[in-house]
Amino acid sequence: MKPVVTVRGLVKTFTQSGPWPWSPSREVHAVAGVDFTVAAGEVVALVGQSGSGKTTVSRIVLGLEEPSAGEILLDGQRWDGLSEAQRRPLRVRFQYVPQDAMGALDPQQTALEHVAETLSVLGGCDRAAAHEKAVAMLTHLGLGERLNALPREMSGGEQRRVTLARVLALDPRLVVADEPTSGLDPDRRASVLEALVGNLPEGAGCILVTHDMSEARDWCDRVLVMLAGRVIEELDLSKATPRHPYARILFDPWSGPVPREALDTTGCPFRSNCPLPPAQDPNGPCARAVPELRALDGEGHRVACVAIQPEDSGTSSASTGARPASGTL
Ligand code: SF4
Repeated sequence: MKPVVTVRGLVKTFTQSGPWPWSPSREVHAVAGVDFTVAAGEVVALVGQSGSGKTTVSRIVLGLEEPSAGEILLDGQRWDGLSEAQRRPLRVRFQYVPQDAMGALDPQQTALEHVAETLSVLGGCDRAAAHEKAVAMLTHLGLGERLNALPREMSGGEQRRVTLARVLALDPRLVVADEPTSGLDPDRRASVLEALVGNLPEGAGCILVTHDMSEARDWCDRVLVMLAGRVIEELDLSKATPRHPYARILFDPWSGPVPREALDTTGCPFRSNCPLPPAQDPNGPCARAVPELRALDGEGHRVACVAIQPEDSGTSSASTGARPASGTL
């Protein structure tokens, strides 16, 4: 079966002006060569700190931004490079759940009106069918008693579920959810993610953009860890533990704060923060080139680090999830 999404060699470059009119501008690589797929029925997490490129990747996948290079295939069809007129009939299959639910809702419309209007305008339903489907979806998501509530009368969790109802009612092939639980307490986060993941149409794929590692662990089939516009580790957390030193810090709540020092612009972007021996060599492989994402096993675990070898899998301290002591893996 074809993947729902195939991303190949994705690059996005911005030109950033200098602080003064006479300062030279510079190119910023927000995304610097990303490849991945999302299979039918799969939920894939894109994780990383702010500025890692995860939101830019998700926006390009949905056609909200144009890539500088690379290919996006949705259901096997080339999507990048299409005109807006060519994309319009396909857009309904690829839906976006925004981070700011309140900002995405019309303050004058009730929960029911939001979903019914989406079904009329994008779903091609007549008025009666849109109304009936909207009531059914909102009720299914636990908002049966809140059909006539306005956004300002709803809790944060209810607002998120209205945005989910709009998306799920359209029977999408792909849902991209950008930090859909941001600002909610843990119980509400879980209920929003349950509503999303538990109600994806059969065979649909989902990309969950998050900086919450427990969400990636609990709700996703596969995780892509991003740093400086690249995927530095890809794994199924039910089968493997993170191996890249940056990914291990992200996923280990006891490891202290994630380093905030500037990322290196040549070689491995994590070099200045990395505790592993090869990083200390100013002329070594970490300094010379950006490490490639290499397979560690036949299960799809890939890591971009010259110090991690396939034969280390499951035998070193890296497999315990503990933060590496300086000089060890
Ligand atoms: S060992 Fe080298 S390649 Fe691996 S994370 Fe550290 S600096 Fe990067």
